[in-house]
Amino acid sequence: MLPPDPDSLDPQDWDAFRAQSHQMLDDMLDYQQQIRQRPVWQPAPDSARARFAQPLPRAPGALADAHASFLQDVLPYAVGNVHPGFMGWVHGGGTPVGMLAEMLAAGLNANVGGRNQMPVEVERQISRWMAELFGFPDTASGIFVTGTSMANLMGVLVARTQTLGVAARQQGLQGAPLVAYTSAAAHGCIAQAMDLSGLGTAALRRVAVNARQQIDVAALAHAIATDRAAGLRPFFIAGTAGTVDTGAIDDLSALAALAAREQLWFHVDGAYGALGMLSPQIAPLLAGIELADSLAFDFHKWGQVPYDAGFFLVRDGARHMAAFAAPAAYLRREARGLAGGSPWPCDFGPDLSRGFRALKTWFTFKVHGAERMGAAIAHTCALARYLAERVQATPELELLAPVTLNIVCFRHRGVASGDGDAFNGEIVADLHESGIAAPSTTTIGGKLAIRAAIVNHRTRAEDIDALLAGVLRFGAARLS
Ligand SMILES: *Cc1c(COP(=O)(O)O)cnc(C)c1O
Repeated sequence: MLPPDPDSLDPQDWDAFRAQSHQMLDDMLDYQQQIRQRPVWQPAPDSARARFAQPLPRAPGALADAHASFLQDVLPYAVGNVHPGFMGWVHGGGTPVGMLAEMLAAGLNANVGGRNQMPVEVERQISRWMAELFGFPDTASGIFVTGTSMANLMGVLVARTQTLGVAARQQGLQGAPLVAYTSAAAHGCIAQAMDLSGLGTAALRRVAVNARQQIDVAALAHAIATDRAAGLRPFFIAGTAGTVDTGAIDDLSALAALAAREQLWFHVDGAYGALGMLSPQIAPLLAGIELADSLAFDFHKWGQVPYDAGFFLVRDGARHMAAFAAPAAYLRREARGLAGGSPWPCDFGPDLSRGFRALKTWFTFKVHGAERMGAAIAHTCALARYLAERVQATPELELLAPVTLNIVCFRHRGVASGDGDAFNGEIVADLHESGIAAPSTTTIGGKLAIRAAIVNHRTRAEDIDALLAGVLRFGAARLS
């Protein structure tokens, strides 16, 4: 037998490597199992940052040393969304199962851009499951992407190609005055999609919302009519299923009917809310989602799949492919062998090389099952209602927005004469630095709100209690 090749990047001593890898796996399982004993978040000290300001390592180093650096300088200073006290923004909590599947995917080192391979079939399986979940027809197509920001951009691109014809991919817009619509409560990445696609943010109408933060459908119809009268060309409506600020869900059935009447593409940004379909209690709130032409959502939020795992689902797979497949490359595909199996994932999006995001998602569904995943989602909503009730029962606090799903916006009343926005902002920073809880802030009706988005399957009532106790304690300390 030949001696190990000193230039290979494989371990020279597999037995030692195995022992170290078991230690690494154990450390990460400990992190997940014992997460409650840690602060939600703590700032990274300058010493840790300094150790990440070193020149490129030229010579080999020990795996154990690299891992020790990770444990000392990286792991304690992450965002903290694994922690049940993390309630900022909309971040998923991840799972140990997802973590293991991610390791398997990396070991296989699958490039899921295309070719005749089973990992592509795993992704197609997820796509069929999602068509089933959302009531899309068999002709639907789906693809993993980084996140909903990318999926929303792809929604705009598919709608543009559908509206102007595939020639637009070659000739560009040629001055076509396309106009798109979404609500004032929509995520900023819808405007970004207009920017990146070359249509321009000025061609996006941000329609007013009602008191429940849902798009005002009558105002939308009026805006479309006004634009048509001005010679513009409406083409795209983006509804939201779960707004990022308050969790509001647009009237998707009404939007679908309006889009059908006006012959516009109906896209739904369901970044976190769409997977509410997994819960029998929440699914009715999403009625109409089955009528969307395209849907963007994330498995990495309410689905608890480790980052990143965004998804783009299109009702008519042919329209989806028409926006992205490169005709020349497509025609060169083989009927047999490793270059067979067309169409490939790269025909449905801008990425050629792509990781195996489907595997961690497949493992998550196989191991936990859709029902339990739905129950975990419903539980976050129950906790949000509990938090809202407690806010309303506490004289020092006020609720700033109705609770539709899992997001609660509230604030400490402070004192009438003080600057309530700065005061509440300081309370949130105090909470972050204490490591007790990590809500974020937003602005509701011109007031700064403490915003708790309960997404993590690990969060329990005691974490809500700790959040409230912290708000009251830091509020009282600042008032005294
Ligand atoms: C999180 C979110 C996005 C952005 O999704 P990413 O996965 O972060 O790109 C878009 N829209 C809504 C409503 C969101 O909650």
